[in-house]
Amino acid sequence: MPNEYSSSLPAGSTIGIVGGGQLGRMLAMAAARLGYHTIVLEPDEKCPATQVSSSQITATYDDPDAIDTLGVLCDVITYEFENVPLETARTLASKTPVFPPPAALEIAQDRLVEKNFLNDCGIATATFVAIDGQQELEDALSKMGGRGVLKTRRLGYDGKGQKMFNGPEDDPQGAFGQLGSVPLILESLVPFVAEISIIAARDQAGSIVSYEPSRNHHRDGILHLSTVPSGVSPEAISAAQQAAESILSRLDYVGVIGVEFFVMEDGSILANELAPRVHNSGHWTEAACAISQFEQHIRAICGLPLADCHRHSDCEMENIIGEDVQRTGQMLLEKDAVLHMYGKSEVRPGRKMGHVTRLQRIICK
Ligand code: AMP
Repeated sequence: MPNEYSSSLPAGSTIGIVGGGQLGRMLAMAAARLGYHTIVLEPDEKCPATQVSSSQITATYDDPDAIDTLGVLCDVITYEFENVPLETARTLASKTPVFPPPAALEIAQDRLVEKNFLNDCGIATATFVAIDGQQELEDALSKMGGRGVLKTRRLGYDGKGQKMFNGPEDDPQGAFGQLGSVPLILESLVPFVAEISIIAARDQAGSIVSYEPSRNHHRDGILHLSTVPSGVSPEAISAAQQAAESILSRLDYVGVIGVEFFVMEDGSILANELAPRVHNSGHWTEAACAISQFEQHIRAICGLPLADCHRHSDCEMENIIGEDVQRTGQMLLEKDAVLHMYGKSEVRPGRKMGHVTRLQRIICK
């Protein structure tokens, strides 16, 4: 009998994934568990995703022939990073379903567009102003008492392309040039007490599910730990979940989204940024929930029903970065620790090599 999921992709169908890093790898693994084939478009032939995918198209993300081939071979296409060229996503979407919608990429690729979008959805953010030159920066910063965070509008990640000004003692001279003389955004410096993120998913029938937020701790600008429960108030949690839902509905979104928030002392929240993809702070879901963020994403884009997001355990996810790989032997000896390595042969400082999720308290349902 037909139901709202009758348009789901049958097992044996093929999913295209643009980007072959660890997120693409974990998506491909989740896809395989549900009986799907995957083809990864990625220039690096030794990428983490290729080890677990059905095949790879080794080409740049804007190679017209590669884009054409991917579109012809796949039943649905997704991506693992937000800097997929918009033209690629749009070209693919003209022939083959692409989820999440390219409009989400367009928003996430530019911090100014993103903040305006969030505010339009009724979601509060830090105050912000576009900066296109050194004098403009100095004027804006002096109006903000010398305190603010300067970021490139495009292509920043893991704290790269950013400069923090903690007061008049931090001299902005030359900062515009140091960040590459590109369009920037200056945000107010938010005195947050916690950083949390929501991982939520929307399916093709419009249903939304959302995991409990994790509390995130960074080291050198890179996510270090995500802990669940987050310890923030139920009001903050529900405000963050509602904000994520508004974003998903507004974009007629399909797939998983990650939305980062600052939690203030009074419990109110400010959205920081959104990632139209599975998110590092959601890796804990593979060990502490029956269904991970990766499977939710595959379910959503393939027209399958979403699963409940409840967790069976409290947990902490630690990223294994660079030389942390030396400690993986030790991690294997820990009780209730789930190790996940990404198959990267070369260790580099700051490179995400894997993660470990430590289950801390098993909760009876
Ligand atoms: P982002 O690349 O926007 O995720 O920023 C990286 C990190 O910088 C965040 O996780 C925060 O710890 C910090 N940060 C970013 N924006 C602000 C802000 N407006 N105020 C205070 N801290 C910030």
